[in-house]
Amino acid sequence: MRPFDLIRPESLDEALKALALPGARAVAGGTNLVDLMKLSVEAPAALVDIRRLPLHEISLGADTVVMGALVANSAAAADPAIVLQAPAISEALLSGASGQIRNAATLGGNLLQRTRCGYFRAADWACGKREPGSGCAAATGINAGHAVLGTSPHCMAVHPSDLAVALLALDATVHLRSRDGARRIPLGDFYRLPADTPHIETALASGELVTAIEVPLTAPAKTSRYLKLRGRASYEFATASVAAAVLVEHGVVAEVAIALGGVGTVPWRDRAAEAQLVGRPLSAPSIEAFCDALLAGAVTTPANAYKLPLLRGAIHRALERSATS
Ligand code: SF4
Repeated sequence: MRPFDLIRPESLDEALKALALPGARAVAGGTNLVDLMKLSVEAPAALVDIRRLPLHEISLGADTVVMGALVANSAAAADPAIVLQAPAISEALLSGASGQIRNAATLGGNLLQRTRCGYFRAADWACGKREPGSGCAAATGINAGHAVLGTSPHCMAVHPSDLAVALLALDATVHLRSRDGARRIPLGDFYRLPADTPHIETALASGELVTAIEVPLTAPAKTSRYLKLRGRASYEFATASVAAAVLVEHGVVAEVAIALGGVGTVPWRDRAAEAQLVGRPLSAPSIEAFCDALLAGAVTTPANAYKLPLLRGAIHRALERSATS
């Protein structure tokens, strides 16, 4: 690990000033960034330890919940408002990592965690996400776990967050702050497709900090469920996952949201495909038609094509669970 400065601000203003320094990065739980520093994948000039900032609260409003960026994954998963009114968030958080990591990891860090692509984490392989313009070893290498949606010739790495998938289905908004002020961005606009710049992963600007996540507490949110398929029962990233929230009224779908994990280079949602379900019974044929539209643009390799039927099955199960919640 390369030497770095450690800055411990006491206030948000101090933190934003420190984050404006060249090469500065925010750190809280350190469960991803510090690992990557040990692997020499990340080498920030300074770490800004933001744990003292007042971003640890979950605030329940009349029709929204705002979760501070420093809320621990385990705390959000156990929060009664989250459990009862947006259960997919709780289920997604509890499906990730281990109990110890969930206690240390924060919501903001969860959204910003980086891919688990093995080539990204091994500094001696070509990886344009780690080293812009250097190529993509996964394209011709081991890619059974890689993405089938949102890929480009420059990167096919899966986004690893479970939380982001649940938040995407629930139309969450990310709150950001920098020395230039505050802004809010829908989670669906927060993540960037790799295109030919896979190293640019989010809309987060230099010197900017995620301060909170806001989730509307709608009727479908109460029915939301998160289903995760993976190679082992715990402490494993998704092979495919689905966050589903559906409201069925008078025998037909009134509202529906379906987000996918483990299959996209970003947390994935297709609102045009969802619209095909609205006004129709939630039946096997209508769900299959949705899957056809959703997966029409999928690009597979011989090694990861298995994800398509796996995903179809997961979508059926997640929708059935949500509809009966
Ligand atoms: Fe790097 Fe992306 Fe290729 Fe993996 S898939 S080697 S992260 S460029």
